[in-house]
Amino acid sequence: MNKINDKFNKIKILIVGSGIIGKSNAFELSNYGFDITLVDQDEINNSSNAALGILMGTIYQKRNGRSWRLRQKSSELWPKWIKILQSYNPKLKIDKPLFLLTNDLDKFKRLTKFVNSYPHDELEIVEANSYNLNQINKTFDGNEFQGVISHRDGRINPKVLLDTLDIALESKNIKTINNKITKIEKNNKNWNLKLKTGEVLTSEIVILCNSLDSLQLINPEIHKIKLKPVLGQAVELHYEEKNTNFLTLPSPLNINGKNLITINKETIIIGSTDEYNFKPDELYINELFEFLQKQPKWLNKKNISRRWFGIRSRPEGEPSPILKTLEKGLILCSGFYKNGILLAPACSKWVLEEVKKHI
Ligand SMILES: Cc1cc2nc3c(=O)[nH]c(=O)nc-3n(C[C@H](O)[C@H](O)[C@H](O)COP(=O)(O)OP(=O)(O)OC[C@H]3O[C@@H](n4cnc5c(N)ncnc54)[C@H](O)[C@@H]3O)c2cc1C
Repeated sequence: MNKINDKFNKIKILIVGSGIIGKSNAFELSNYGFDITLVDQDEINNSSNAALGILMGTIYQKRNGRSWRLRQKSSELWPKWIKILQSYNPKLKIDKPLFLLTNDLDKFKRLTKFVNSYPHDELEIVEANSYNLNQINKTFDGNEFQGVISHRDGRINPKVLLDTLDIALESKNIKTINNKITKIEKNNKNWNLKLKTGEVLTSEIVILCNSLDSLQLINPEIHKIKLKPVLGQAVELHYEEKNTNFLTLPSPLNINGKNLITINKETIIIGSTDEYNFKPDELYINELFEFLQKQPKWLNKKNISRRWFGIRSRPEGEPSPILKTLEKGLILCSGFYKNGILLAPACSKWVLEEVKKHI
């Protein structure tokens, strides 16, 4: 065991919330020999399980500020993480590249200017007459797109990712508890965490990764943090017709802001909506069918074979995500809105550095 591990060995860390953020933090911290426990009462229904898993790092046009730095860092880290995680599950991969297309000429002009400003970022302009678009235009029944191929961006299947992290965490002896934390209290140098079933856990460091519900565990008098729910719906379409083969499309594909992921010849996923609510609204589903100038035959609500939603948390009055030390030993890693999967590795690095300051 090395020196770092000796120093951190007996330190207890409790992570509340076992979505992609909680699991990624556990994965990063597990390399340092901490005694880690993950607590979650309902991880199957969280927003991480609803995600499409698109990684839009390099394609992000605002090239300054914290959001860009987190994207940049995560884009660098994801290939490294995947390489390590493949030793637990060889099926885990990043599907690259990402196609970002539009019907909007002004948007395309802005994209072209952006791509030309960053010639070393493996961004490729796709003009209307490009051979890359032949099959896409055909599947989209006469819509004419232009756009960019981002060779560094792509998609990770979130379910495969979450399952793989579970295997990795188990092999690293990370403890998991299927329960809800109802209260957190300071107890000298430690934190007492009360479970729904009444037991109390004690830990030196607590990391709140429980999205919207993190507000229920912190003192609103001291910490003026606001989070609002942003529900996202997604649909899977099944369409069988001899001239339509979704496998001929690039995947992942973003057209006019909607993400499309090919599952097989006859099945495609489209997402997602942004609804400031806790209940999915039927009207918003229309957005997933009305984002093109001309609607191809297959893009029809009657072809929905599966639909689902997840609830993300968006900070009010400050940017997403919220990465803050609230008190000694109490770290908040929440408010992940659209890009929680993308940002997970960079945020886990931030948490690690923060944890070291608390020891
Ligand atoms: C339809 C949809 C599509 C998306 N697509 C993408 C995409 O393409 N790319 C991308 O990067 N992001 C995407 N996202 C966003 C991404 O899913 C989120 O940003 C990310 O999942 C947030 O992860 P999280 O771990 O913070 O929250 P969650 O996954 O919601 O996890 C929070 C966990 O905390 C647990 N919890 C809450 N309270 C307690 C408590 N008191 N005690 C114990 N446990 C508790 C919950 O049970 C839950 O499991 C999408 C989201 C949706 C809904």
